[in-house]
Amino acid sequence: IFGAGRKNSKGLNMNIQSEAKPFFKALEKYEQQQWHAGPLIDGETVSGTVHDVLSPYDTRQKVGTIAFADEAAIEQAIYSAQRAYPSWCRTSVEERANALQKLADLLEENREELIALCTREAGKTLQDGIDEVREAVDFCRYYAIQAKKLMAEPTLMPGPTGELNELFLQGRGVYVSISPWNFPLAIFLGQITAALATGNTVIAKPAEQTSLVGYRAVQLAHEAGIPKSVLQFLPGTGATVGAKLTADERIAGVVFTGSTETSQRINITLAQRKCGIVPFIAETGGQNAMIVDSTALPEQLVQDIKDSAFTSAGQRCSALRVLYVQDDIAEGIIEQLKGAMDELQLGYPGAFKTDVGPVIDTTAQTNLNAHIDKISSTGKLIHSVNLTEECQHGHFVAPTAVEINSITQLEKEHFGPILHVVRYKAKDIDKVVEEINSTGYGLTFGIHSRNESFARELADRLNVGNVYINRNQVGAVVGVQPFGGRGLSGTGPKAGGPHYLFRFVTEKTRTNNI
Ligand code: GLU
Repeated sequence: IFGAGRKNSKGLNMNIQSEAKPFFKALEKYEQQQWHAGPLIDGETVSGTVHDVLSPYDTRQKVGTIAFADEAAIEQAIYSAQRAYPSWCRTSVEERANALQKLADLLEENREELIALCTREAGKTLQDGIDEVREAVDFCRYYAIQAKKLMAEPTLMPGPTGELNELFLQGRGVYVSISPWNFPLAIFLGQITAALATGNTVIAKPAEQTSLVGYRAVQLAHEAGIPKSVLQFLPGTGATVGAKLTADERIAGVVFTGSTETSQRINITLAQRKCGIVPFIAETGGQNAMIVDSTALPEQLVQDIKDSAFTSAGQRCSALRVLYVQDDIAEGIIEQLKGAMDELQLGYPGAFKTDVGPVIDTTAQTNLNAHIDKISSTGKLIHSVNLTEECQHGHFVAPTAVEINSITQLEKEHFGPILHVVRYKAKDIDKVVEEINSTGYGLTFGIHSRNESFARELADRLNVGNVYINRNQVGAVVGVQPFGGRGLSGTGPKAGGPHYLFRFVTEKTRTNNI
């Protein structure tokens, strides 16, 4: 897949004792660790307003402190990243790629600390933490290989004798990367490595909830050979750091993953700048549906629904939000789903048995619970998993399924473990397709059907970036399922796909009359 004998990172297999035992042993070291981080300007940690980082699992537990960047740090980061650009852009793509390969190795070497950070700072389950590191490693290696393929040699163009026509790809300048808390390592590094591989310098603004893991990742990138001035790190809020960076005329491009509303705000800011049109890559939310017809295999289906809706506490933009199930089989599927939901283990994300951890913060918890209350009073509550005592000090939201009439009842994405179920009649399938498309979102879509032509037709008709047939609809793999949506779900580039890097470069034609 990756070429040159390279494969995706294999992660860790917890069913193999010889892998699991040393892993758990190594994790112990980080159970009580406190991390302290701040802006990294030219590799130096500088001061700023310090905030405590508390565990979403139990807010009485402190994970460390983070200093947010002030105006001076922002200015210094932009100034340095801009000065570093010309030489990084002319550094050979092999050298840039080698640094990313080295970073992948360092991520694997520091896997336990990074997983502990994902668990303690972001409330991710251990399995999610393992997958997170694996995906981050894959991004580094995949973009390193892709960049070499695209940029090592110019494309020779035809021309009359005596004239040499060549087409070059080049970085654009300083990229700002604004990344989300739900993949604080994988998406954080995916954005950064794509920009770096193609010869841009980068200012990384992590999500304010997950800056500690971002800080460690940037330190490792520097250790791997990315020059310190080429990659700057600016923790802080969107309203301060994000707004200031995107409004600055010296920023050549922005790569963002987060909410649709924030992407719209950034787009307006970029449009108001006086310079040229700024390239903007946005991967945003989804109102993701799955359609199930009466030929679906129930056991597989229920497992896939459960994984799609509740993995990562539903905090994936790919997650299933609205399940359309054909009325003939709905009753049976709903019964099985209730049983499957009761199997979910909620609790301490650092315990391997835990399937569902907390949501990220109080705001998320309050909004999700408010939505559950509201939608259960208009729709019909199907099932809600009991929260155990263990959950009382954290931001837990009970995995919930509720029956509604149509996806159009939901005015926005609800980013958590809430599944909406709609029964449909086979004769109304066209209306269902129309309703789903009418939301304007277009990220993932699932189909469960043994009717091949039905599934293919649906896959064609739904306006989405990723369609999954007869499986779950989360966990796109780098180099295997290029990931990204359209419409309200983003500007379209597919992370982990062969065309992604094109979005970070500009092209130059050189005609030489020799
Ligand atoms: N790529 C992830 C997946 O396929 C989702 C990314 C996101 O939530 O932003 O599940």
